[in-house]
Amino acid sequence: MDYFPAFLDLRDRSCLIVGGGAVAERKYRLLASAGAVITVVAPDISAAIASLAAGGGHLLLRREFRAADVAGHWLVVSATGNPAVEQAVYRAATAAGTFCNGVDDVANCSYITPAIVDRSPVIVAISSGGAAPVLARKLRAQIELLLPVGLAKLASLARAWRERVSNRCSDLLSRRRFWEAVFDGPAASMAIAGDVAGAEAAMRELLQTLRAGESGEAWLVGAGPGDPGLLTIRALQILQTADVILHDRLVSEEVLGLARRDADRISVGKTPGCRVNSQDEINALLVGLVRSGKRVCRLKGGDPFIFGRGGEEAEALRGAGLRYQVVPGITAAAGCSAYAGIPLTHRDLSQSVTLITAHGKDSVDSLDWPALARAKQTLAFYMAVQRFADLMNMLIDNGRSADTPVAIIENGTTPRQRVIRGTLGQLTLLADANRVAAPAMLIVGEVAALGAELPGTMPHLSQNYAKPDFRVANKG
Ligand code: SAH
Repeated sequence: MDYFPAFLDLRDRSCLIVGGGAVAERKYRLLASAGAVITVVAPDISAAIASLAAGGGHLLLRREFRAADVAGHWLVVSATGNPAVEQAVYRAATAAGTFCNGVDDVANCSYITPAIVDRSPVIVAISSGGAAPVLARKLRAQIELLLPVGLAKLASLARAWRERVSNRCSDLLSRRRFWEAVFDGPAASMAIAGDVAGAEAAMRELLQTLRAGESGEAWLVGAGPGDPGLLTIRALQILQTADVILHDRLVSEEVLGLARRDADRISVGKTPGCRVNSQDEINALLVGLVRSGKRVCRLKGGDPFIFGRGGEEAEALRGAGLRYQVVPGITAAAGCSAYAGIPLTHRDLSQSVTLITAHGKDSVDSLDWPALARAKQTLAFYMAVQRFADLMNMLIDNGRSADTPVAIIENGTTPRQRVIRGTLGQLTLLADANRVAAPAMLIVGEVAALGAELPGTMPHLSQNYAKPDFRVANKG
């Protein structure tokens, strides 16, 4: 983070503007709207600024800037357009320990001002850290469209009700529940539409029905295979409201970074250092948290109901009589193949796709190999890294051609994605030569060859892998 974002309370605090032209006037208006007491220093001060200052309390100094002018001010704005003056102002302010903004002059800034969307009391501030002001303004335009003008009414109403709600709901959790119910419900839409009386009636009703500690619930949420862009909108909303995030080891830091800042994060899974790792312990933890009134986001890699043991967690919650919802995610087979340019089905090449877990030797042995070995179908193997030799042998022994294309996708959809291509007969050699490690998907089938032709989502990451000397293997 190059700049630390903050909102300043400038009411009745003195600020200095150096410069008296149109830019200075714009800054004057902005600072005045925040209640600052303003001093302007410049040999020429425009009539517009003079008439703004006529309101009282402000000071106009019609002369050149002097270093001593910065004394006693909370903020300094330098809007002279003259590089020498800007620099002098910046130096004087810095020496005095005061923040200074040289307008459009990043070199002479110790603070910069964001593009803003004003729905006071809600303010959205956007900054590119001075790197791309035009981009920041573009984003501003998009956010302007996104936020209804009536948001200001809703936020003012919330401010007016704050104390009443605090008196009524003594604990933090029930207060948060109340406000979320307000902002997600009819009260919010009424306030935004301007029906403040209707909104207040809905809020009174909510306040009456609200009881603390009764609203624990869980969401079993799919986080997708890694790229946070593959989260669903619903998953994002839940990440930003849940009190606790109970997540698998596979869930990426980028995804976790989208969670509510003050949410508790608990990592569960079979990793060294994890307190809770057996499925029974995870179920018990989940049930215990929801019972205590927490809203828990049980965040799993990919989709919760595809090799994610989400079914068992749902049963545990239902058995305990607790509320839960399931939010599907993009499963690794779908995400990884898309990012590798491999269509899982194709009109000419594959009429079906089978999702298979290769976890545990018993489950591999019990698969219907003759059926899986038939041509023109796609097999997507999860948890297969330790089982490549078995899978290769079983498929070939049951009649699938050793020339069938395969692709191994390691760390799919992340910046560390690797796609390793070859044929079924080369599978173990390819994996060894490239030291393939979990998490990885194995795609077997005619479609796997297409990845070499179609760019996928990360073409720059798809061509870089070792191709061992297959002739040696073929002789052996
Ligand atoms: N519920 C998950 C699967 C969990 S099993 C889903 O729907 O995707 C874990 C296996 O998923 C891993 O061993 C690996 O085979 C696969 N996997 C998950 N994320 C992956 C990724 N980013 N790249 C490659 N494979 C991944």
